[in-house]
Amino acid sequence: MGLLIRNGRVITATDDYVADVYAEGETISRIEKAIDPKTLPPGTETIDAKGKYVFPGFIDPHVHIYLPFMGTYAKDDHGSGTKAALAGGTTTIIEMICPGPNDEPADAFETWKSKADAGACSDFTFHMAVVRFDDLAKAQLRELVGSHGVASFKVFMAYKGALDINDEHLFDLLTMAKEMGVITTAHCENAEAVDAMQKRLLAEGRTSTEWHERSRPRAVEAEGVHHLCTFAELTGAHIYTVHTSNIAAVRNAINARLRGVDVWVEAVIPHLTLDASYAELPDFEGAKYLMSPPLRDKVEHEPLWAALRGREISTIGTDHAPFDFKGQKDMGRDNFTLVPNGIPSVQERIDLVHTYGVCAGRINLHTMVDACSTQPARIFGMYPKKGTVAVGSDADLVVYDPNDEGTFSVKTALSQTDYSGYEGFTRKGKSSVVTLRGTVVARDGKYVGPDGGGRYIPREPTHF
Ligand SMILES: [Zn+2]
Repeated sequence: MGLLIRNGRVITATDDYVADVYAEGETISRIEKAIDPKTLPPGTETIDAKGKYVFPGFIDPHVHIYLPFMGTYAKDDHGSGTKAALAGGTTTIIEMICPGPNDEPADAFETWKSKADAGACSDFTFHMAVVRFDDLAKAQLRELVGSHGVASFKVFMAYKGALDINDEHLFDLLTMAKEMGVITTAHCENAEAVDAMQKRLLAEGRTSTEWHERSRPRAVEAEGVHHLCTFAELTGAHIYTVHTSNIAAVRNAINARLRGVDVWVEAVIPHLTLDASYAELPDFEGAKYLMSPPLRDKVEHEPLWAALRGREISTIGTDHAPFDFKGQKDMGRDNFTLVPNGIPSVQERIDLVHTYGVCAGRINLHTMVDACSTQPARIFGMYPKKGTVAVGSDADLVVYDPNDEGTFSVKTALSQTDYSGYEGFTRKGKSSVVTLRGTVVARDGKYVGPDGGGRYIPREPTHF
C-alpha cells in the first residue's frame, strides 16, 4: 500500500517548501513538486495537506511509561502512553529504563522491552538508567550496548538512596561510556543538597507543595550541571543534561561546552510553559504540578526559549510521568517529599511548542522541528531514519493544521491520569493526520491505528 500526501508545506530543521510526499510501504520513496497519481499503484491512500505543514514525526527524548517510583507505579501502560504520543504527533519515544538499586540491568532491560514490545503503538527505544554499578552490572551494561542496541545511559544525581550515583561510580561509568561511544544523559540535582534541604524544611513544619521548589532551588541544579560537566571534562565522555529548568544551569553547560566539554542540553515542555505558582495552588492542587527539577519562576521562560532559538538548548522533551491526583499524588498531602513527581505531557508537547513557541514568536518552525525531532534523532543515533522528511527515511509524518484552535483538557487527553496539567490552556495548531512508517495512526487528536505495532529501534553508539 502506498501513501500520498499532496500539496503540503514540508518543514524540516533546514527546509521549507511545498511538495507531494509519497511513501511506498514504510519508507518515503518520492518527494516531488507534483506527483502524478497515475504513476502510483492502485489503492494508494491520498491525503490532501493543502494549507498544512508536513513535519517529520516528532521524537520525545524523555518519557516514562512503565515506572515504579516513590512507592507506586505511573498510570500509563505502553498502549495508553504511546497512543497519547501519536495523537499529539510524536511517533517515536525514548523511554527511561529505571531499575532499582538491587536490580540487574539485563533483567530491567528485558522487563521494559517486553512490556513495550507487547503494548507500544509508537516506535520506541530506551535510555538505560545506571543505578547499580558493580562488576556484574558493568558486564551487563556492556552486553546491552554491544548486543541489544542500547546507545545511551541515564544517571541520576538526585534521589538519594534510591537512584543516585556516587562520584566514584560516576567517574567509572563516564570512563566506560567514553570508551564505548555511549552518550550519558543525566538528571543534575545534587542529591545530598536536596536531602538536607528537605529535612530542614520538614523540621520547620514546611510540608505543603509550595516548599518543593524551595527544597531544590536553581542553585542545586546549576551545581549539578557543573558537577557533571567537570566529570565529563575529566573523562572525555559526551553527556546530555535532561530537563534543564533554569538559565543558570544552562549557562554552566554552555560554559563547559566552551571549554571543550561535549555536552548537550534538553529542556522539557513543563518548564517552558508552567511556573512555580502552579505548585502553590490551594487545596493541595499544587501536587499536580510537582516534578523534579521543579517548575521555576516565570522569569526563566524567556531565557530558556532564547537558548532554544540560539540552539544552545538542543532538544525539547516532556519528562512525561503520569500519576493520578487522587490515590497517588495525595500520598504526599502532609509531606511534599512523598508526592510522586511528574506531569503528563506526551500528547500536549507539540501543540504547546507550536502555540507558545512558534505562534508567540519565540522560535521559528525550523527550531521547533530541530528541537522536537531532528536533534533527538541525531544525538541518540536514529538519524536520518528518523528526524527528517527525506527519501529513504521512515514515513513517520505529521500533517499539521496551524490554524486549528482549541483548549487542552483531561477529557481529550489519552494519558490515563485523572487530570491534565494544561487544563484550559489554549492551543493553536493540531496534528490532523499522523503516520507511522506509512500507516495512518491518528487523526484530529484521536488514535485510529492498531493496538500495538510499535517497533523497537536498536541504536549504535554515536562516537561523537
Ligand atoms: Zn525523567
